[in-house]
Amino acid sequence: MNMVRVRFAPSPTGYVHIGSLRTALYNYLYAKKMGGSYILRIEDTDQKRFVEGSMENLIGCLEKTGILHDEGPTYVDGELVENGDFGPYIQSDRLDLYKEHLRVLLEEGHAYPCFCSKERLEEVREAQRQQNLTPKYDGHCRNLSREEAQDRIMNGEEFVIRLKMPVNEEITFFDEVRGQVTINSDEVDDQVLIKSDGFPTYHFAVVVDDHLMGITHVIRGEEWLPSTPKHVLLYQAFGWEQPTYVHLPNILNADKKKLSKRQGDVAVEDFLAKGYLPEALVNYIALLGWSPDTNEEIFSMDELVQHFDLKRVNKSGAVFDVKKLKWMNGEY
Ligand code: GLU
Ligand code: ZN
Repeated sequence: MNMVRVRFAPSPTGYVHIGSLRTALYNYLYAKKMGGSYILRIEDTDQKRFVEGSMENLIGCLEKTGILHDEGPTYVDGELVENGDFGPYIQSDRLDLYKEHLRVLLEEGHAYPCFCSKERLEEVREAQRQQNLTPKYDGHCRNLSREEAQDRIMNGEEFVIRLKMPVNEEITFFDEVRGQVTINSDEVDDQVLIKSDGFPTYHFAVVVDDHLMGITHVIRGEEWLPSTPKHVLLYQAFGWEQPTYVHLPNILNADKKKLSKRQGDVAVEDFLAKGYLPEALVNYIALLGWSPDTNEEIFSMDELVQHFDLKRVNKSGAVFDVKKLKWMNGEY
């Protein structure tokens, strides 16, 4: 088996949710357990959602909680030459790599430019909704000739690049928590790979990077499960091997709804600022969705590494209970 390589890939869009810290921690624990590498990658290709200072805050939270990544990049002419410097990898520094890979897809006919206006796309979706269909791109620009597309680009028309999805094909991937997942490609949109501002979408950048970085296990929150078929189709278009997926169940409120900031503290930086010990926080979130093979409740980071096992990640959501966190923090 390949050496295990995992990554935590946050977007710098605001505070650090306790669920994000758990994702980072599980990636870290799995890498250490398996003698592999844990990579930190900042996914900042969505310019509209970028929040100034959030990357620094995130890195600070990871440092304080001892979830330290293993490698960082050194590039020469866009080529990775050395991993000595402690990164993290930052997607906005890697735009040339995404462009190179896009070229391959365009040349092989797996991708095409789409010139549809927002208004047109909205009309199509509205019509589909009225017929009770799931709104989806209708493939309007799929078969434009190369010449026509080039003329329109030269004339300065705005466009995005979409992936040409195969028609009526089974898409299958393996998830450690859910087992084999299969859906039909017709359920997936001709997804946008490059936006009109020239930046890659999350879907495109995540697949290119996970491949280039040799990621063997993608461990992330279950909100990304619906995106996975899109990623699998991209792996297929490139002819690359898929990683194993591990979608972690949500962290829930006492009322079993997804934990959100409205219902109280969920930001890691707020817990740290209030004086919660980083060790208590790490111990607590380790047990949110994972059942160790022992009855102990207090673990050091080293003990967590020793006991951690992806096979013991729970299938259902874990309820966040601040009282238990306080107890671990030595408050009562
Ligand atoms: N950038 C995504 C996020 O904000 C990462 C999702 C993934 O791990 O693929 O959570
Ligand atoms: Zn179009």
